[in-house]
Amino acid sequence: MPEKIDLLGLLPEQIAEHMKEMGAPAFRAKQIFRWIHVRRVFDFAEMTDISKQFQSELNQRFYINLPKIEQTLASCVDDTVKYLCRLSDGSAVETVRMVYHHGNTACISTQVGCKMGCKFCASAPLGFIRNLTPGEMLGQIYAADSQFPEDDRISGIVLMGIGEPLDNYDNVMQLLRLLSHKDGRGMSLRHAALSTCGLVPQIRRLAEEKFPLTLSVSLHAADDKKRSELMPVNRRYPLDELLLACGDYFRQTGRRVTFEYAVIAGENDTKKAARQLGKRLRLVFPGQRPHVNLIPVNPVDGTGFTAGSAQAFQRLLEAEGINATVRRTLGEDIKAACGQLRRDTIEKKRAVNGIESISGQ
Ligand code: SF4
Repeated sequence: MPEKIDLLGLLPEQIAEHMKEMGAPAFRAKQIFRWIHVRRVFDFAEMTDISKQFQSELNQRFYINLPKIEQTLASCVDDTVKYLCRLSDGSAVETVRMVYHHGNTACISTQVGCKMGCKFCASAPLGFIRNLTPGEMLGQIYAADSQFPEDDRISGIVLMGIGEPLDNYDNVMQLLRLLSHKDGRGMSLRHAALSTCGLVPQIRRLAEEKFPLTLSVSLHAADDKKRSELMPVNRRYPLDELLLACGDYFRQTGRRVTFEYAVIAGENDTKKAARQLGKRLRLVFPGQRPHVNLIPVNPVDGTGFTAGSAQAFQRLLEAEGINATVRRTLGEDIKAACGQLRRDTIEKKRAVNGIESISGQ
């Protein structure tokens, strides 16, 4: 018996190929796609305009699984909600639903764990398990939506949860195509942001895709020595190479690139650091005012880092002609920073079971 296929991760044209093999009319593909992505029906038995016989054939060939929400943490200070989502193989990832004046945004995970090893990150010490499939990424959004009324759905996404999205390139591209497909959600990718630690070849490849999304690059330092200490990826793709790719991305797509900068006391918050950052950004974006989002680093147990003053660093950057905003830290009280809930849960399990399971099984 061949393995069942995840229907949630297929585009209508891919479903149509299966319909052809099954001897079904082509219109079924669009019909099924709409049931899933517009009407949010995930059980074939509830697809009422499909015969019982064909429902059963679909059941034999495909599956539709949403992650199970295992833990919910709702902020007391704003409307942010964080979910610990359990996937079908037992792995856990985090999803955050944030409420902005322009709509609801989901911050989703793209991998179980991460290979990139950033020193200030809660996910890094737990290592990398596997990539998420397009269906598992989309499932996080649909699972979060299932907790709210239909007219309060998520309308934007940020790929900023656990994992490096560009390290799971093909699946993330498929997710973007699924989200923006005119027969499904039809989400404008102007409401999508992809955050990367700086994988240069993939940034260049992304520019070719011509998606109107915002590229958000985690910089966190403006000199190679410090950045390599904080982010090992910098040894492979140093700052000159990374910023050149960012400049080319902007020129090719017309979409702005924003920079993320976690302010860490005594590490990257000095006047010299601001001067270096200003000089580099002015060189790559001549005549423009590049934008840097500042966020005080999230204190994660074991990293030894403490938050620097984002406001003070903002003033230093503005003196350099760089636009800087101190990012609103939504859901601070519920540990909305990437990977902290998963890490806490895994560590609690380890303490209880005395085992080294990092997929939480
Ligand atoms: S900050 Fe992002 S890229 Fe770096 S280790 Fe954490 S999840 Fe991976």
